[in-house]
Amino acid sequence: MIALPRLKIAHLPTSLEPMPRLSAALGGPRLLIKRDDQTGLAMGGNKTRKLEYLVAEAQAHGARMLITAGAVQSNHCRQTAAAAARYGFGCLLVLSGEPPRKLSGNLILDHLFGAEIVWTGSKDREQVLQDSFQQAWEDGKRPYLIPFGGSNPTGAVGYVQAMQELVEQFNTDPEWKGQTLPEWIVFASCSGGTQAGLVLGARLFQFPGKVVGISIEEPAEVLQERVANLVEQTAELLGEKAEFPPKEILVNDEYLGGGYGVISDSERDAIRLFGQTEGLLLDPVYTSRAAAGLIDLIRRGHFSRAETVVFWHTGGAPALFAEKYQEI
Ligand SMILES: *Cc1c(COP(=O)(O)O)cnc(C)c1O
Repeated sequence: MIALPRLKIAHLPTSLEPMPRLSAALGGPRLLIKRDDQTGLAMGGNKTRKLEYLVAEAQAHGARMLITAGAVQSNHCRQTAAAAARYGFGCLLVLSGEPPRKLSGNLILDHLFGAEIVWTGSKDREQVLQDSFQQAWEDGKRPYLIPFGGSNPTGAVGYVQAMQELVEQFNTDPEWKGQTLPEWIVFASCSGGTQAGLVLGARLFQFPGKVVGISIEEPAEVLQERVANLVEQTAELLGEKAEFPPKEILVNDEYLGGGYGVISDSERDAIRLFGQTEGLLLDPVYTSRAAAGLIDLIRRGHFSRAETVVFWHTGGAPALFAEKYQEI
């Protein structure tokens, strides 16, 4: 496997912890949690692992500015802004829609890290991102474009490494050594980089369990196709070969509810249950939806009680403090 340039940004390995009280409350399988909400960069989250490779690539290209895009409460944009500050890049964030009347949650932090923000208004986000990149290039700012969610092959390598890290924990960490590897990994999947990395990592590092993405925004077919393409391209970048037909990518789209960022009782209940049984924080957009899916699957008897399920926490708690989600 080709080793790509990488910066040491994240606090790794993230810890793997049991959730016995949640397990008991649900009468379900053994539950573990992989704490990628604690990756250490600006309140953590899954984008930090991707940024270790993306920012290294930006440096290698001689870039001086990072440009990326996301939703108003984007965790990806918050972590990118922090990484830009830490490595001395300028940062431009293209955020969807109009500026809210009050700064809150992740958006406060974007400003705090000194990012410049461009609002798309009613325009297409991808178009505004391309235009902003072009403009910055013409202005001599040496921009480096990070796609939505940091999900290109370079970013996905962060999660190939993350799967290696999990397998390694079961090989060497005294707490987990000698135990059989988990049968399932469940997590929030959206732009697909996390899932592509984990799926490819499972193949490359012989992880035998199932890697199930709970879709946050798109129908399963769309996300399966995106992840399958990304797996293939990421393998190629690493000098490996791996092909997965989209239908072999495990995506569950039963929990899309009212759409991206629309909170319902199931997300609210998941936030409360994780909080009140384990003292853990879930976020309103991603991990609460994935956890709601996990809880529902457990209640429907999808897992046997003898199995072990890892809930891979992808972060996002700063959005709990967004004005938009105060009704939680
Ligand atoms: C971005 C994000 C995800 C989704 O990860 P992808 O790699 O985009 O699929 C999940 N959870 C949180 C908290 C995120 O910020």
